[in-house]
Amino acid sequence: MSEKRYIYDLSEGDATMRNLLGGKGAGVAEMARVGVPVPDAFTVTTTACVETMNRGGEWPDGLADEINAGLTRLEERTGRKLGGSENPLLVSVRSGAVFSMPGMMDTILNLGVSDESVAAIAEESGNERFAWDCYRRFIQMYGEVVEGVPAYAYEDALTELKRKRGVELDTDLGPADLKELVATFKEISNEHLGGEWTSDPVEQLHRAVNAVFRSWQNPRAEVYRRANNIPSDLGTAVNVMQMVFGNRGDDSATGVCFTRNPSTGAKELYGEFLVNAQGEDVVAGIRTPRPLAEMREVLPEAYDELIDTMHRMESHYRDMQDMEFTVENGKLFLLQTRNGKRTAAAALKVASDLVDEGVITKEEALLRIEPDQLDQLLHPAIDPSHGEKPIAKGLPASPGAAVGEVVFDADTAAERGGRGEAVVLVRYETTPDDIHGVIVAQGVLTAHGGMTSHAAVVARGMGKPCVAGASGIHIDAKGRTLTVGDRVIKEGEVITLDGSTGDVFGQEIKLIPPRINEDFQRVVTWADEVRELGVRANADNFEDASKARELGAEGIGLCRTEHMFMAADRLPAVRRMILAETHEARADALEKILPMQQADFEGIFTAMKGLPVTVRLLDPPLHEFLPNLVEQSLLVQRLELTGGDASELGAARATLAQVKRLHELNPMLGTRGCRLAMLYPEIPAMQTRAIIRAALAVLEREGETIGVEIMIPLVALSKELEIQREIVEKTVAEELKAAGKELDVTVGTMIELPRAALVADQIAEYADFFSFGTNDLTQTGIGISRDDAENGFLTQYVTSKVLERNPFESIDVAGVGQLVDIGVAKGRSIKPNLKTGVCGEHGGDPDSVEFFQSVGLDYVSCSPYRVPIARFAAAKAVLKQRED
Ligand code: PEP
Ligand code: MG
Repeated sequence: MSEKRYIYDLSEGDATMRNLLGGKGAGVAEMARVGVPVPDAFTVTTTACVETMNRGGEWPDGLADEINAGLTRLEERTGRKLGGSENPLLVSVRSGAVFSMPGMMDTILNLGVSDESVAAIAEESGNERFAWDCYRRFIQMYGEVVEGVPAYAYEDALTELKRKRGVELDTDLGPADLKELVATFKEISNEHLGGEWTSDPVEQLHRAVNAVFRSWQNPRAEVYRRANNIPSDLGTAVNVMQMVFGNRGDDSATGVCFTRNPSTGAKELYGEFLVNAQGEDVVAGIRTPRPLAEMREVLPEAYDELIDTMHRMESHYRDMQDMEFTVENGKLFLLQTRNGKRTAAAALKVASDLVDEGVITKEEALLRIEPDQLDQLLHPAIDPSHGEKPIAKGLPASPGAAVGEVVFDADTAAERGGRGEAVVLVRYETTPDDIHGVIVAQGVLTAHGGMTSHAAVVARGMGKPCVAGASGIHIDAKGRTLTVGDRVIKEGEVITLDGSTGDVFGQEIKLIPPRINEDFQRVVTWADEVRELGVRANADNFEDASKARELGAEGIGLCRTEHMFMAADRLPAVRRMILAETHEARADALEKILPMQQADFEGIFTAMKGLPVTVRLLDPPLHEFLPNLVEQSLLVQRLELTGGDASELGAARATLAQVKRLHELNPMLGTRGCRLAMLYPEIPAMQTRAIIRAALAVLEREGETIGVEIMIPLVALSKELEIQREIVEKTVAEELKAAGKELDVTVGTMIELPRAALVADQIAEYADFFSFGTNDLTQTGIGISRDDAENGFLTQYVTSKVLERNPFESIDVAGVGQLVDIGVAKGRSIKPNLKTGVCGEHGGDPDSVEFFQSVGLDYVSCSPYRVPIARFAAAKAVLKQRED
């Protein structure tokens, strides 16, 4: 036997061994440890799976022997033998990764049923039909999962037999029919395998374990991991567990339950069960189950024990649990417990309630909330005053509103959704194979399946609206129609789902902006008590600034002024300014723009009164304000060909000449940022004038001060900042003198070029603050054009794991992060109290926020709707830093 261990018996594990035994393995071991009834089992470790993958599918030395020994011990403990003709042992072989991936990997049930054991199973259960049904289910599942026999082969045979017997339901087939089906199924397996399929149960067990290992790498598991940022090298554990049967008659059942409502977080009974069924029937949504409350009548003793166990497990784990159970001839067994996946609203409610119940601290509550998940709450909801009648109703499986065109299969959803089109995936029921479509759809509608069906669980985990089990709808996937009563909806027509009520509407319904609820308000204030980073917003108009403030922004970290220049009523004046040949002509054009800029700033200052506002002077490349070179050339050509108006042609030619003169091959590295201001100092002067006048006007009107911070973009050389600062300071002094007023104005710079980070000590001499522009710093630091990258190789890099994450989404800590770190350190070496922040998109990404905390920035700035996310992320960053 090798030194390493690949197998742990049930009694050897506990909750701390999750990395080795997977969530399921550690969970059942822990339940057994604290006395919850769990079927006996052993677990093959994740290490065994990882080593097998690393060896190209070959098992490490000793694994086979260990499995055999583990099996022998299990046989001794249960007094049974795998596939034995007396007291046969049947096992399930189930996947169980460290992070739960519901339904994405494979499972084999009923392993151990064979020609030798089937009679004994019949005798022991007193139910011959049950024994043969187990057997045919096993061959089918084993054939499909382990040997890759196509599912239709078995299904066709089953349908054919039912047709021959003239029955409709599987349950109408008797023992003799099922026995015949077993023989047919074996033939099908042999045919597809080109020989005898193995009937040795130990050999079957080995092959089943291997199939589960393999399923770690199946496409849907990979898609799921990518969507949930789960590393792909963790591998799965495999749980080999004695079978208990929920399909042994009317005193048997199977089900799933949550200790709280995973949609809303309410402390109430939540779950479903099915009498006389096997577990997979519920999870896969094949039969529509009954609400858990009804189990009290049907199986009262098991019900009481289940409720008691649910309470015990929740207090044990101090978190909401998601559990699977089976009742076999009246006796309850728990098959799994794990922290339940929940919507953002539920996460906040559960965390808040558990603090009130004295179960967890506020800090623990914060650590349990995934800041990214809160995005769900910040999306639009259905306008309650819309007045439309729903065409159908299903179960409110995952809250939120989805509007989109109907599609009937996951591939189409993936294709169209991937192109950015809004689609709603409509399926009879979803299976794990639909995951790639679910990810990009606006929402999911199923005709079948319950609140814990696969679609519901996966959608909730992703915060995707889902209406499940809308039994009034009829789906014709081939004909690509959805029928409700007389209404026929074709693929491509728009529907709306309300995942909070289960309503389905046959048209587009108006959505309204989201509202922050009480739980959110409460928990986010806990985050504010803990965090050290300030949180500001990037906003450049009154509406966005007001929204940001409502969502808790403590100021504006980036007010881009270019959008103000682009407005249709301003562009002609801006063009005249740029194309002006003389100072006078330029000054004249700027005079026209000044009052408009001032009005914009007044709006922002009014929204943010009492808080700091960083206004960045003009940044974008010149050509963004000019006519397009190709279009202008075509215009000249057209006028030449049609022999049109001579003065029009003359003007067009003159403009073309100017456009050509100003044309740059790499405009993002060209005349932009402060370089533009160096060429045309009138521009920063005009902008500064507009800022100061606006601030004074708001001060006078509102009586509250404004923290005016003027920021110079794209500085690479300290000289640039020195010159620009002079222009700004001179203008500020002139304006204040003329108004006879005082105002606190600071001048700082963006650090968004590698050189600026490296010479940040020189630059800091002229800066009151630094704001890291990590968008440009990523572009120039890694050398990837931010405008083109996502359409090209970058996507492929992320898919093929050359890069773990898109560096424009989450900061490249090792490279670009190092530039930030150097910039902060060098800047503070000259000015120890230099204020530093970040205003690139990374300011709203939780992982990046954690990094910014670690390098000691003062604040992050992000788009208004990410402000609450950043507040939570900043608090978590502090708590994690303390833990480390
Ligand atoms: C940046 O470069 O990070 C930044 C915030 O500026 P912009 O995105 O406007 O270039
Ligand atoms: Mg920039």
